[in-house]
Amino acid sequence: KNFKDYKISEPILKALEGLGYKEPTEVQEKVIPVALRKTDIAVKSQTGSGKTAAFGIPICEMVEWEENKPQALVLTPTRELADQVKEDITNIGRFKRIKAAAVYGKQPFAYQQAELKQKCHVVVGTPGRVLDHIERGTLKLDRIEFLVLDEADEMLNMGFIEQVEAIINKVPKQRMTMLFSATLPENVEKLQQKYMNQPEHIEI
Ligand code: AMP
Repeated sequence: KNFKDYKISEPILKALEGLGYKEPTEVQEKVIPVALRKTDIAVKSQTGSGKTAAFGIPICEMVEWEENKPQALVLTPTRELADQVKEDITNIGRFKRIKAAAVYGKQPFAYQQAELKQKCHVVVGTPGRVLDHIERGTLKLDRIEFLVLDEADEMLNMGFIEQVEAIINKVPKQRMTMLFSATLPENVEKLQQKYMNQPEHIEI
């Protein structure tokens, strides 16, 4: 399998080459073609499997550069993961000039507000701070087409269920939702049933 087998454009392929990604990992092989059809996906996979690029590649491919509002929202349980995802998306979208912003607690609100005000295609953040930005009007969700719940089990373990549900309810219904989780406890299953549209289930 080769990244060129998917409907991925030249700028993204070039970035993957630059990153030294020669062939898709198993999770990427399974997720990318489904995601490019904009089908909802629930994935059971561990970190280290290449899951970030599994959603980062299709998102970078489908996001429209000209559109001046966030089109993808990625929720993560921790600041560290939010920064990592932002960096990976920035690298994958480099030659398409995709801009990603990370928002999370314990960092000045004003700094993130400024980042969100710039051209920004993808927003990555922890649920509490993301909700904060939504409620203060510094993050607009009306153009969000792609929602990713990353490490969903961890987010729920950390007690973010209320914020996660509040955010999902503010994202347009016409969207694609991807959920990644290392385990599938009942509360994660419930989240899938409640907020995903006939998701394709992928297990690595
Ligand atoms: P993740 O599971 O997203 O945390 O990714 C784990 C590591 O694998 C990261 O350091 C990625 O840069 C790397 N990686 C992701 N996809 C590929 C790929 N197709 N080929 C080689 N390395 C990759």
